[in-house]
Amino acid sequence: MSETNIESEAECAASLDEADSLKHFRERFLIPKAADGSDAIYFTGNSLGLQPKTTRAYIEAELDDWARLGVEGHLHAEHPWLPYHEFLTEKMARVVGGLPIETVVMNSLTVNLHLMLVSFYRPEGKRRKIIIEKGAFPSDRYAVESQLKFHSVADGLIELAPREGESTVRTDDILDAIERVGDELTLVMLGGVNYYTGQAFDMEAITDAGHRAGAIVGFDLAHAAGNLELKLNDWNVDFAVWCSYKYLNAGPGGIAGAFVHEQHARSFELPRFAGWWGHDKETRFLMGPDFVPLEGAEGWQISNPPIFQMAALRASLDIFDEATMSALRTKSVKLTAHLERLLREIGSDRIEIITPSDPQQRGCQLSIRVKDVKSGLFEAITARGVVADWREPDVIRVAPVPLYNTFKDAEDFAKILRECL
Ligand SMILES: *Cc1c(COP(=O)(O)O)cnc(C)c1O
Repeated sequence: MSETNIESEAECAASLDEADSLKHFRERFLIPKAADGSDAIYFTGNSLGLQPKTTRAYIEAELDDWARLGVEGHLHAEHPWLPYHEFLTEKMARVVGGLPIETVVMNSLTVNLHLMLVSFYRPEGKRRKIIIEKGAFPSDRYAVESQLKFHSVADGLIELAPREGESTVRTDDILDAIERVGDELTLVMLGGVNYYTGQAFDMEAITDAGHRAGAIVGFDLAHAAGNLELKLNDWNVDFAVWCSYKYLNAGPGGIAGAFVHEQHARSFELPRFAGWWGHDKETRFLMGPDFVPLEGAEGWQISNPPIFQMAALRASLDIFDEATMSALRTKSVKLTAHLERLLREIGSDRIEIITPSDPQQRGCQLSIRVKDVKSGLFEAITARGVVADWREPDVIRVAPVPLYNTFKDAEDFAKILRECL
């Protein structure tokens, strides 16, 4: 989009909202209220996505089937519980650009990360190193470090940091580091979008570089799933994990996702932590002693999964399927550019946007660094009906989500921020 285009489009939020082909999706969500009874400016869909109005009915249908059928619900519920996760597979696969055989919903995010590391972090000889981001989400770092300990690998962790005086990591620096570590590298494990800076990584280039070095490449897509247009299969990503309570609106503690590339679909020799739900469906209930894994990502399942959580996710994925990721991303790029422009127009040197300006290098989130952390700025905007979040030491994160946020939200937020500054 050219500069003049942005100029003219930014003139009026009302006309931008009017022209938005996705505008009717906002009505499908329950929007929390501000103290004065108006809709809050909800910019924390990157932390907990809003509740679709249909979620309650999807969960109640399962409660009703349980009341009506008891154990028979496994086979005779309207959506039988035994294969319930399969009702989610195709839609979830479309969200991340995976094939159905590569995609499964199960467990929660960090648990899935451990399961993937069990299979894909296999130190051997001098190949022992894992590359992660410095400033990775703490849970990811804990998971990776504990896996290193589990394998008794010392000095296995390499953390990529931005250059002195910069806030985000340059793609070239990531690619150089991968090449440099070379034949000592086992695994690259980055976030698709960094939770703090909002930087989106070039997953395709990073995957290529990792593979050239002979390593496995995996991504934590907590902040990328439902935010970016992902093409995990095309990019040849080995594995990925994500949660569904952020952009995917499946509710607190929602059931998570995992992706294992089809090239590993029949790699039964990989070590894995097994459970009966990963066992061949045809013979699972023969209850035999020997584990026969399913092909593909399903083979990493362990337990029979939580139906109510899957019902909530199904309500949300039905909406995603209707909206489509490509249309959502198109709106998202415009909406975030609009917000960025309004924030720059404030012209205050007390704030700085640390998220990259290049739309290719970010999702919807902007991270605003506050120079004077004791100014009470965050508390002031919160009191005015903005739901954003504060991340230590000095960042306010705002995420205008294309499914339910509006250009007016961006304008109202910028106005409140200007007044509070
Ligand atoms: C939100 C988030 C998590 C949270 O992990 P859970 O296992 O769902 O509690 C982990 N990693 C990243 C990068 C996140 O953004």
